[in-house]
Amino acid sequence: MAEPQRIVIIGSGLAGAAAAGALRERGYAGDLVVLGREEHRPYELPALSKQLLLGDVDEPDRVHEPDFYDDHRIELRLGVEVVRLDVGGHAVEDSTGVTHSYDRLILATGSTPRRLPVPGGELPGLRTLRTVEDALALRRELTDGAVVVIVGAGWIGCEVAAAARRHGASVTVVDLVDLPLRRVLGPRMGEVFRDLHAAHGVRWRLGVGVDGFTEHGVRLADGTSLTGDVVVVAVGAAPNTGLARDAGLGLAEGGVAVDAALRTSAPDVFAVGDIAAHDHPRLGRRVRVEHWANAKGQGEHVAGPVLGSDEPYEASPYFFTDQYDLGMEYRGLADAERDELVVRGDVDAREFTAFWLREGRVQAAMNVNQWDDGEALQLLVDARAEVTPEQLR
Ligand SMILES: Cc1cc2nc3c(=O)[nH]c(=O)nc-3n(C[C@H](O)[C@H](O)[C@H](O)COP(=O)(O)OP(=O)(O)OC[C@H]3O[C@@H](n4cnc5c(N)ncnc54)[C@H](O)[C@@H]3O)c2cc1C
Repeated sequence: MAEPQRIVIIGSGLAGAAAAGALRERGYAGDLVVLGREEHRPYELPALSKQLLLGDVDEPDRVHEPDFYDDHRIELRLGVEVVRLDVGGHAVEDSTGVTHSYDRLILATGSTPRRLPVPGGELPGLRTLRTVEDALALRRELTDGAVVVIVGAGWIGCEVAAAARRHGASVTVVDLVDLPLRRVLGPRMGEVFRDLHAAHGVRWRLGVGVDGFTEHGVRLADGTSLTGDVVVVAVGAAPNTGLARDAGLGLAEGGVAVDAALRTSAPDVFAVGDIAAHDHPRLGRRVRVEHWANAKGQGEHVAGPVLGSDEPYEASPYFFTDQYDLGMEYRGLADAERDELVVRGDVDAREFTAFWLREGRVQAAMNVNQWDDGEALQLLVDARAEVTPEQLR
């Protein structure tokens, strides 16, 4: 594989920016261009639904210092949207008609919040949360006494609920599923989050779907409706795969299919972060992970394969959240409805570690308000350690 002379990265989020930094760190000396739709220097998203929404900070964390890109000869072109990928011609075209040729291309286009396909689902007043502009606009509306309806009891819905309560808003969260976070954490851990929010004054409308949105709120499938000053739609995000799909790249799990070393089906094209449906060597199957650590880890890792190595990306998925006084980390990937749940510690006091076991092996571990065991949990999860429930307890 000849040494590339020109590498182009599409997407200036965490994965794209991490890839650019890692290429220089590995000694790549050729042209390096990052094309990003947003006008901002690359930033990280977790604070948007936490510290920034809470009002503790006004800016998200940046991936690098301001001078980093100039200092490392990284051409950061912001406010530029790529509209076409020509894999045969080794070139991409941006929305102003400019063509950028590449020897290697990294796709890091992230995701877009989903909307619900119901009447009123596209109303402009509905709030979603993905960018710093979204977060600042929402924060202005989360005032004392505001009536807030959140559709979706996943991570972002729960974090927005916690921020809204901090500002003194009245909050109702609606979800078709009967418990928050149930799909990821299963019923018992879902109850922990339901009770946490209820203790902070959140009203739940669980097990009921949304039939439509109006200027005044949300119509529910059981015939009732909820009025709200602010309606937040937090029903997940769709990976931005349009460029890859139109260029004929292989797709999987809703994202862009990549092999263990993050290579797509097209020669010299790689994909990382939220969009990458990765053939994970440790898990033995394809996974697409929409988490901060995955975007950072894959972004950093891909520099190797882009420069010709064959190293697989092997890190276990890792995720964290902060809601009120609950902080947690989750490592690994469980099937929460099927795997055996084992708890060590005090669930009622919200100080515990949950493990998910399959055939006697640890699939995932979640430490809640306990911070001393991270390394040990990582080892157990990485090794898929064989251990009994009694030992874990
Ligand atoms: C509000 C919020 C809170 C989160 N909190 C946590 C958390 O607590 N813990 C955790 O583990 N994870 C969290 N996540 C998830 C995590 O931040 C994402 O998984 C991660 O940022 C994905 O990085 P990415 O680089 O793949 O995508 P993004 O960060 O979405 O970056 C993609 C970039 O590509 C640009 N782009 C897309 N298409 C084009 C195009 N055609 N041309 C040019 N540019 C394009 C986009 O505008 C965007 O700037 C959170 C996500 C959100 C939205």
